[in-house]
Amino acid sequence: MKIGFLGLGNMGGPMAANLVKGGHRVVGFDPVESAQVAAGEHGVEVVDAPSAAVADVDAVITMLPNGALVLATYDEVLAAARPGTLFIDSSTIAVDDARQASARADAAGHRFLDAPVSGGVVGAEAGSLTFMVGGTEEDLEAARPVFEPMAGRIVHCGETGNGQVAKLCNNLILAISMVGVSEAAVMGERLGLSHQAFYDVISTSAGQCWALNVNCPVPGPVPTSPANRDFAPGFATALMNKDLGLAMAALESTGTDAPVGTLVADLYRAFSEGGAGGLDFSAIINRVRQEVA
Ligand code: NAD
Repeated sequence: MKIGFLGLGNMGGPMAANLVKGGHRVVGFDPVESAQVAAGEHGVEVVDAPSAAVADVDAVITMLPNGALVLATYDEVLAAARPGTLFIDSSTIAVDDARQASARADAAGHRFLDAPVSGGVVGAEAGSLTFMVGGTEEDLEAARPVFEPMAGRIVHCGETGNGQVAKLCNNLILAISMVGVSEAAVMGERLGLSHQAFYDVISTSAGQCWALNVNCPVPGPVPTSPANRDFAPGFATALMNKDLGLAMAALESTGTDAPVGTLVADLYRAFSEGGAGGLDFSAIINRVRQEVA
């Protein structure tokens, strides 16, 4: 298939590269030059405007920082695509923004799936992302060959927007578990437990979770985790802060009492606004270390 790809950043870059490896032809756009160069090196045909990436393709994937950009990009490109083009948004955005994007794609004569992902940059590079898909079964079946080179799992979550609902649930858990792992790791190191022993026990015990097993916030036990490279992301704190803002709005709109999630969201907001937005979200361990003298 021929696929347009908008947003060739930390996630979109390796995802587009895997589409090329999977035998698709990929036409991509990103305003940042380093992203253009990296994508070009992986066989993506890089063009100089978003509308040029969507003309005459079977599907368009967006992997952008936020919902406002997704909607603005749709307004810019929908008219340039062939009628019936399948628009797939894999960014993490508000449920309402996803439903709005779907309505605009529909009105322009196209099809739409929200398909946010989990698995991080490691999963994007390995082609093992979990796609959580909202939309019709028929559109999901049509999109399956597009997802497959990038996916370890594809889960149909129901109607449009439900992919984003699942994503917000996941990231609320992820933020809480990363703070929990960080607090335990700092307590352990202060009591003389080595990072390796901490990892070896807990990664195979009931405390195991992605925050520890894959994105371990202390350097050493997981060589690919951001803690080994001064917390270069990975999944940036600013993006986690954005997702927690979406989760807080969803908790409020559903009347769900979530004191732990709310506290963790406050921690990430202060951490991000205090200057750590560009670091991987596992850098929250630095916040834990500073807390106790
Ligand atoms: P990123 O900032 O690395 O990439 C976003 C890219 O979009 C950038 O390269 C930027 O230049 C580009 N961009 C901005 N405006 C554009 C436009 N008008 N047209 C085309 N490209 C444009 O962010 P990321 O980490 O790749 O995350 C992208 C999305 O995926 C976010 O919504 C994020 O929440 C979500 N996400 C990220 C991770 C992760 O681990 N990084 C995991 C799951 C989901």
